[in-house]
Amino acid sequence: MKKIYLIKYGEIAIKGKNRHLFEDALVRQIVYALKPVDGDFYVRKVQGRIYVEPDEGTDYYEEELIEALKNVFGIVAFCPAYIVPDEGFEKLTDTIISYMKEKYGTGEHTFKVNARRANKKYPMDSMEINASLGEKLLDAMPNLKVDVHDPEVLLSVEVREEINFYSEEIPGPGGMPSGTSGRAMLLLSGGIDSPVAGYMIGKRGVTIDAVYFHAPPYTSERAKQKVVDLARIVSKFTGPIKLHIVNFTDMQLNIYEKCPHDELTIIMRRYMMRIAEHFAEECGDLGLITGESIGQVASQTMQSLMATNEVCTLPVYRPLIGMDKQEIVTVSEKIGTYETSILPFEDCCTIFVAKHPVTKPRLKNIHFSEEKLTGSMEELFDKAIETTEIITVSAE
Ligand code: ATP
Ligand code: MG
Repeated sequence: MKKIYLIKYGEIAIKGKNRHLFEDALVRQIVYALKPVDGDFYVRKVQGRIYVEPDEGTDYYEEELIEALKNVFGIVAFCPAYIVPDEGFEKLTDTIISYMKEKYGTGEHTFKVNARRANKKYPMDSMEINASLGEKLLDAMPNLKVDVHDPEVLLSVEVREEINFYSEEIPGPGGMPSGTSGRAMLLLSGGIDSPVAGYMIGKRGVTIDAVYFHAPPYTSERAKQKVVDLARIVSKFTGPIKLHIVNFTDMQLNIYEKCPHDELTIIMRRYMMRIAEHFAEECGDLGLITGESIGQVASQTMQSLMATNEVCTLPVYRPLIGMDKQEIVTVSEKIGTYETSILPFEDCCTIFVAKHPVTKPRLKNIHFSEEKLTGSMEELFDKAIETTEIITVSAE
């Protein structure tokens, strides 16, 4: 009897001809997610089924394996299951009775048997298996009761070349496997929001690249490390992230020197977007991602978002746009970025921020202020790009 973990995937199964591409991506992501887990595992794709099989005799903690599978986008649910060879119905019944006894003891449970016969040569059909196995279980475990509508225990038995059975289903995150929807460039700061934004777009199967703007010596090495750490947490879900670390200091100082201080944040943001687009093009990204949410701060009013958006030619995905802070916090706690995000290191934006930033910037005024940067900014822009440090961050 072999223990396996049967993977259930919904959304991707309906993709017609693309189905195998999605399945291959899912297998690849499962392999990736299992790398840091102690133990040796095979991930197999057999007859339209994906399952994880621990190598014979390998030592592993089931909880650790379960935690890893919970992080794989595209998994709707997974089931710890057993595979046995077909050695006749009587032998199967005995095996399943011992399994049920061990798992549910003498407790009172309602149950239902749900058999599926894929191997049409098997001498009993699914109705017969349901009835006969149900009866034998009732005999062997007197505290069980049948409930065909809403059973506490749904015992599934799948008759294939071999037979597998299971009665437990653990929810996965859903979504689509990473690498099935193209790629996008995440503007990743050290805050709470942008890692959540990356997670949410990644959940739709998008591969994530990232860019972080820092301003040494105004921002510290530890602030940068925090962003690397956040990227690593997000990469547990999305796969490796190519992180671009841009030295933004000279550009920021230039803006600070030449532009009205109440417009600093907006103008800075516009330059961030321009640089992000440059790297997005290099990476073949189809969009930008930010953690913006309407009205959260002055730089995220509708007017500010419009001013920021104006310089972008790629679509900007803002998955948090309609979320309240508390809702975002809840997701960040769930995905494990919260504790890192709240570490108190300085952010390049807050250092140069004005006491009273404009909340309703007018494009005309912003254009006028940006004019003042003509002649000095081009060189700084190129230098920022040239000196950008690129590292690949991965959870492995
Ligand atoms: P976050 O929690 O993501 O930092 P926030 O609530 O602090 O967001 P802002 O500081 O206004 O909001 O930033 C809005 C968005 O702009 C961020 O979500 C992020 O996508 C991007 N951004 C801001 N600062 C940086 C930075 N230093 N590097 C990269 N992206 C940034
Ligand atoms: Mg921030």
